Parts: sequence; structure tokens; C-alpha cells
Amino acid sequence: MRMRPRSIRARDTLVAAVLAVLVFGLTAAGIDTAVRGATKADLLSEVQVDARRASGGVRDGTLATPIPDDTGGRILVQVVGPGGHVLDSTPAAAGREPVSTLWPDRNMRVRDFTECRGGWPGADCRVVEAIRATTAPDSVVVYASESLPSYLVNGLLEGLLSGGVLLLAAIVAWITWHVVGRTLGPVEAIRAQLAEISASDLSRRVPEPPGQDEIAQLARTANATLARLEAAVGRQRQFASDASHELRTPIAGLRANLEDASMHPEDNDLRAVVDSALRDTDRLESIVADLLLLARIGTGGTAAQESIDLSALAGAEVGRRTFALKIDTELACGVTVRGVRMQLVRLLGNLLDNAERYADERVEVEVTRAGGQALLTVTDDGAGIAPADRERVFERFTRLDTARSRGAGGTGLGLAIAREIAEAHGGTLRVEDRDHGTRFALRLPLSAPEE
Ligand code: ADP
Repeated sequence: MRMRPRSIRARDTLVAAVLAVLVFGLTAAGIDTAVRGATKADLLSEVQVDARRASGGVRDGTLATPIPDDTGGRILVQVVGPGGHVLDSTPAAAGREPVSTLWPDRNMRVRDFTECRGGWPGADCRVVEAIRATTAPDSVVVYASESLPSYLVNGLLEGLLSGGVLLLAAIVAWITWHVVGRTLGPVEAIRAQLAEISASDLSRRVPEPPGQDEIAQLARTANATLARLEAAVGRQRQFASDASHELRTPIAGLRANLEDASMHPEDNDLRAVVDSALRDTDRLESIVADLLLLARIGTGGTAAQESIDLSALAGAEVGRRTFALKIDTELACGVTVRGVRMQLVRLLGNLLDNAERYADERVEVEVTRAGGQALLTVTDDGAGIAPADRERVFERFTRLDTARSRGAGGTGLGLAIAREIAEAHGGTLRVEDRDHGTRFALRLPLSAPEE
């Protein structure tokens, strides 16, 4: 199992801390190397001067005993004979062992190195310059040496640097933790609010932080989605209540008639009661069938679609009916669309039913191409539909006063179904402006006719 913090906050903090340790750690290592190098170089240049002066003194026999020291005992100078005996030294080195046993040979008379005595942490480390005075086999060796500062020997420098690195990394982690926490605060508020919103309470909205950043946009998008959901749920609820209301009226009528007939059989003509009951049942059936159709339109995919000649379809549909009014048709050739034949027949049927119902004398059906689309219009010369109602008539169960006063027996679902079918076919269905009467215009995408 991979160990990975679950929260973004912890993850970002961990990443920042690791990066800080790496960056500051490398910097600290660089500082450590530089300090060590510079200190040793300094010490070495000092001991070199003293070692050279002493070995020069040995060569021309001018070296005093003890060797004069102007460093206050900081630098120890020793002249050591081949047997390891100290022959001469600065006062501070009197009585001390030779600082080193390294004996430069004739080819390499000058050597510098660091020599440590004793164990950590109290070790004494010295930077040493050793010079073999002459190339003679019995030459003496001059050692000049100076102690390294204790912080370079006992690890104090590295300890301090490591502490600094850890402290800086901790500060970086702390800052990251707080900045990320502040950034993600609104996300948590949005999440908490969303968790509380249920389907029954879609009126609530998530808090929208100000600004244009990603989180503000997330909140805005979430709220827009909630608004759409709320509207959709509202429509569904309205539809269900409308549907049950529409069904209740004919059921109540049916029931009243049947009860009356059953209680007073002598006052009722059984035949008339049955006829009326059958009419009510028909109406109920057509409402239920329409509701089912509405629920199904557009769910069949494109599998059920075929290539359809719109003019042929309109011609056949008009020809099938017997009109009490005058009906004109103007059908262009080769206007082909893709669609479900049964549904388009139903759409046209609904428009023709309405036109027949509301026309005074004349109905006109026209199929053409317009603006790269197939256009089918059904026009009547009736009372027309007021501009304010032209969208409303497409809503489910809308019946305008004209319809009620005429006692027309539609379900109020005809145009809703027609528009649903038009939209499922990628088209539109609208009421268009007319001086007199009503025109419904169906526009569908054209398709190439099949061979
Ligand atoms: P209905 O089953 O009542 O006809 P529709 O959805 O087909 O239901 O129509 C809704 C309402 O739109 C109708 O009740 C009617 O008031 C109005 N309407 C539809 N077509 C026309 C038209 N050609 N002329 C005038 N009004 C119309």
C-alpha cells in the first residue's frame, strides 16, 4: 500500500517540505564546504610563512633557540631530527611530541596536510606544513601547525546548518499548510452545502466566493446546475399534478354516471349510460396514450429513423382525411428528412386536427425548402393565437379560452407532443405571425434522398 496523505492540504505541505529540505540542504552543504575550505586555506597560508622562515633559518644556521613566536602560541613550530627528537621549537611547543610522524622524502620536501589526535568530540586537529630542510639523508624536518577551530572538528557547524535547514523547511511547511488551507476553505464550504442539499430542497445554493478564480467558477457552475435541476424538478412536479388533475375530471364524470345508473336503473337509459361511459373511457385512453408518447419521444435513438419524403407524407396524410373545409396543398418535390415516420405523421396530424378545429373556411398545407431546411407550414384562417399565448400553447395541458368556448375535446397535449417530436428530430416548431388566422411552421434538417 502506498502511503499518501488523503487531503490535498497535507499532500501539498509534504511536497513543499521535501522540496525545502532538498534546496536548503544543498545550500547548507555548499556553505559547509566553502567555510571548511576557506578556513583551512587561511590557516595553511599562515603556517606556510612560519614553516618557510624556520626551514630557511635551519639551512643558514641562523635559527634561534627557542624559535621566536609572534603569534602568541597559536602557531607551533618544531624542528625534528631524524630520530624523532624535537631539536628546537617555539616556546609554546616546548616539551611536546612532534605534531606529526609524516616524514617528507627528498623528492617532495614540502607537504601540507591535516593531522588529528584524540577521539571525537574533543579531538585536536591541526593544519600542518612539513618541510624537509635539505635533501641530505640526515636532514631535519620543520613542522609548523595551527589548530582547526573546534566547530570544524566537533560537528558544531554541520549541526547548526542542519538545524537551520530543518527550521526553514518547517517554516515553509507551516506557510504552505496555512495558504492551502485558506485556498481550500471555500471548497469545503461548497462541499458541505452540497452535501446538505437534497432533491426535496433544491432551492438552496452553495456560497459563491468573490472573484473569477477556479473555485469561484466552480461555485457558480454548481449553482447554475442547481437552478436547472430545480426548474426541471419543478416542471416534473407540475406535469404530474396537471396529469392527475386532467385524469381526475373524466374519471369523476364516469363514476357519477355509473353510480347514478346503478342507484336509479329505472330513470336511466342503459344504452346512453354505456355510450357515455365509453366516450369517457376513450378520452382517458387518449390522455394516457399521449402521456406515454410524451415520455417516449426522443428515447429511441436514431435506430428507428428512416429517410422520409416530407411532401409525400403530407400529401398522404391530407388525402386520408375528409375535410369539412376547403384545403389547399402546395408540396415541393424532393424535400427529404430523416425521422421516425410514425412520429412525423402524428405531428402533422395534431397540426391538422387543430387547424380543422379552429379554421373558419380554409386550411393550407405547404412543404418547401427554406434557408437550407425543410419547412412545413399548416395555416388556417381562424381567430388566430394572441402573441402572448404563442409559446404557452406548446406547454402541456394548455387550452386557451377559444378552445374551451368551442367545447373542443382535445387533451391539451397535442402541441406539446408536436414540439417534442420536432425537437427530437433536431428541428423547431413555432407559431408564426399572421394578420389573420394561425400558421404553425415546422423546420427540420434536410437529408440527402436515398437511392
Ligand atoms: P388541444 O388538444 O386542446 O388542441 P393542443 O396542444 O393541440 O391541445 O393546443 C393547445 C391550445 O392551443 C388549444 O387548446 C387552442 O386553444 C390553441 N390552438 C392550437 N391550435 C390552434 C389554432 N390553429 N388556432 C387557434 N388556436 C389554436
